[in-house]
Amino acid sequence: MDRSPAIPLSRPDITDADAHLVLRTLRSGRLSLGPMLEEFERLVAWRAGRSYGVGVSSGTCGLHLALLALGLGPGDEVITTPFSFVASANCILYVGATPVFVDICPRTLNMDPALAARAITPRTRAIVAVEVFGNPAYMPQYQALAARHGVVLVEDACEALGTTLDGRPCGSFGRLAVFAFYPNKQITTGEGGMIVTDDPALADLCRSLRNQGRVAMETGATGSWLVHEHLGYNYRLPEMNAALGVAQIRRLDEIIARRQQVARWYLERLRGVRGVVPPATVPGASFSWFVFVVRLADRFTAAQRDAVIAGLRARGIGAAEYFPCIHLQPAYRRRFGFGPGMCPVAEHVSQRTIALPFHTNLTAEEVETVCRALEEEVRKTGG
Ligand SMILES: *Cc1c(COP(=O)(O)O)cnc(C)c1O
Repeated sequence: MDRSPAIPLSRPDITDADAHLVLRTLRSGRLSLGPMLEEFERLVAWRAGRSYGVGVSSGTCGLHLALLALGLGPGDEVITTPFSFVASANCILYVGATPVFVDICPRTLNMDPALAARAITPRTRAIVAVEVFGNPAYMPQYQALAARHGVVLVEDACEALGTTLDGRPCGSFGRLAVFAFYPNKQITTGEGGMIVTDDPALADLCRSLRNQGRVAMETGATGSWLVHEHLGYNYRLPEMNAALGVAQIRRLDEIIARRQQVARWYLERLRGVRGVVPPATVPGASFSWFVFVVRLADRFTAAQRDAVIAGLRARGIGAAEYFPCIHLQPAYRRRFGFGPGMCPVAEHVSQRTIALPFHTNLTAEEVETVCRALEEEVRKTGG
């Protein structure tokens, strides 16, 4: 990890008003399962155009509960992308199901819908689709594919809060969708996540599973604190974290506007920079911009990409190789015997991506500094 670079890869945007609401909640005496969680759930569900929100302690916990609530388990195949944060596939392993990795489209970096269709077998029970880097490409196609084959679409929207496709918000496509609020996301609760859905039974089950399998503790007086209907977990989101979420999501439109401005500065500045491919947008999409990830042209090697990242870091500029392929992670190779060549497009792309500094308060001057450094480091590699 970098020791606080001058221009960090990411930085949360916390105002005095955000901090004040957290402090007020801390002093209220109600530190778990209280009004802040309820309010945060209402606001996130509303943003995603869904009926129910279930707050949990991380996006990873949310994905785990989503798959548990659907009853997925051993013998079930779940189609997903190798080009994502590892949690989007780990949740499949948590429930004992089998991940089936489908290669990506080289432009949008999301799972290729045609390849996903070919990966369907009689054992396929679900598709975990990810809006990688917040790109909503193909969500309607995944939805249609799932409907056609009678399988469930789970939407890992952890990178896409506030993004829309033809007016439809991310988080509205899957039977269940999951958001995350780690400090580098569009809004943060420190740690936290949220499951959203329109299905009341699934929402109730997730609510119970996050709270040790207790039933109806929050919605009615019928449940008991000492009766556990299900094998549950402690995946509760504390009130202090929910309060931060409430304060942050109230500012979401302003946060999105600033991130769009930063992205525009980058896109304008990088136009015509030789060897650097900017992130793709798609028609009809309005991005809330999670990260800003560029790619070096195909002629560059992974070693040249690594040299560019090292060069940027040496100048005090945060940069990272988002994402190494999940199927090539040591934990997956050991368990499944996976190796290179399985998903050639994802492997090719993952060797050439560079995440650049990106956050709500990045200035035009900082964008200029990063882009000039990137230009020079790319030139130095001789590509
Ligand atoms: C951030 C993220 C998650 C969840 O991360 P947590 O750190 O557990 O909140 C899941 N999937 C993707 C694609 C993510 O980017």
